[in-house]
Amino acid sequence: MQKIVALCKRRGFVFPSSELYGGFAAVYDYGPYGVELAKNIRNTWWKAMVQDNENIVGLDSSIFMHPKIWEASGHTSGFSDPLTECKECHARSRVDHLLESVGVAADEKMSAEEIDDLFAKNADKLKCPNCGKNNFTEVKKFNQLVQSNLGNFTDDWAKEPTYLRGETAQGIYVNFKNVLDSARVRIPFGIAQIGKAFRNEITARQFIFRKREFEQMEMQYFVKPEEMMSVYDEWKEKRWQYYLDLGFKEENLRWHKHENLVFYAKEAYDIEYNFPFGFKELEGVHARGDYDLTSHSKASGVDLSYMDPNTNEKYMPNIVETSVGVDRTFLAVLTESYTEEGSDEQARVVLKLPYQLAPIKVAVFPLLRNKPALVEKAHEVFTALKKEFMCEFDDNGNVGKRYRRQDEIGTLFCVTIDFDTLEGGEDGAKDTVTVRNRDTMKQERVAIGELQAYLNDRLTK
Ligand code: ATP
Repeated sequence: MQKIVALCKRRGFVFPSSELYGGFAAVYDYGPYGVELAKNIRNTWWKAMVQDNENIVGLDSSIFMHPKIWEASGHTSGFSDPLTECKECHARSRVDHLLESVGVAADEKMSAEEIDDLFAKNADKLKCPNCGKNNFTEVKKFNQLVQSNLGNFTDDWAKEPTYLRGETAQGIYVNFKNVLDSARVRIPFGIAQIGKAFRNEITARQFIFRKREFEQMEMQYFVKPEEMMSVYDEWKEKRWQYYLDLGFKEENLRWHKHENLVFYAKEAYDIEYNFPFGFKELEGVHARGDYDLTSHSKASGVDLSYMDPNTNEKYMPNIVETSVGVDRTFLAVLTESYTEEGSDEQARVVLKLPYQLAPIKVAVFPLLRNKPALVEKAHEVFTALKKEFMCEFDDNGNVGKRYRRQDEIGTLFCVTIDFDTLEGGEDGAKDTVTVRNRDTMKQERVAIGELQAYLNDRLTK
């Protein structure tokens, strides 16, 4: 984990937020390569959801919504984690995580009584992760919704706060009718959304795995009640396959069944990934029943039930949800692709990112930076290639150093313009360049005129 965190900082993937001011817990910024990787992650998800399915449409709802939405959804009363504080060092911890660390199965969906009971039974085994002492306050439920004064001009806005959304899903439920009335969709259909969510997470110890401001990619699939479980099984399969298609090793993924279901859920599984700190939730795939639309119907007074245009049957749609974080995918992708190879002089760190995710597809180098003819030719090649691929021009240090740097950011191909390119050598190499493959480190001589086709062939497979 430390190596990944260091690489992220060194190469401009992830920076701690507000670093100049000492940082801001559990908030991070994406740097130049991070922003590309995150965008590519969003794009692959969007393609797998919206482009590849004829009945899934997109949405971009607002971060701020009417506060009644969070009441109706149960978030203002129930969106909480069990919290305890160390009386010695005042570090706060999630009680379910403390229990898990000593092998006691627990999760945040348990009732207050269940958690209290487990906490009391195991109290002597628990240690503060910060100072190692065993002296905790009583458990209290801590609501994770982040409050704001948006649209409230009184001084005591905290009594009637507006919330920064705790999940993107609610924006989808409250737009269900709008989408149904405006897009050419019929049940079964899905609505996909990518956007920021905010949670007052109690602990902030696992880099971008658990952020207070993060990004979700959620898809809510609306189905006939009797079809929910079969559709649910299909989505479980599709989401598993999504990670395999991204090159994840199957042994680094596993299903985790929720034993403590929220009262309305029919079934819930998480896809867990083998992060550097062990298997943890990457994505939730949940069969949610009709709770969401029923609650919003009741609270808003607008009937959200569906009338089947063919059979005139009326029912409240059931929902299958798939929900994953951009940031957790980012960390999983880095974990999966971080590779150390060779030893001594030959040692290198390489991010073996799949081609769709690599921030830079092709780097272009002039062999020497102080030879204007080489630099000019390299610029010419770079300008042509960058119309097609995300490219980078690099003339810093020697070529070996540039390869190492590009390996560390996962660049798939490096193209070097040398004297043979300009003049041709004994073997008549004029107007050819050296193309070096990130994974095999093999170099090939390719004619400039064929370069685009050569790369295209290898970058779309
Ligand atoms: P956890 O149990 O780890 O707190 P959760 O069960 O609360 O997660 P969900 O509410 O199901 O998470 O959110 C769906 C997805 O959103 C998660 O699978 C995860 O990928 C992402 N996510 C949730 N909370 C965070 C966070 N604080 N930081 C980054 N990603 C998050």
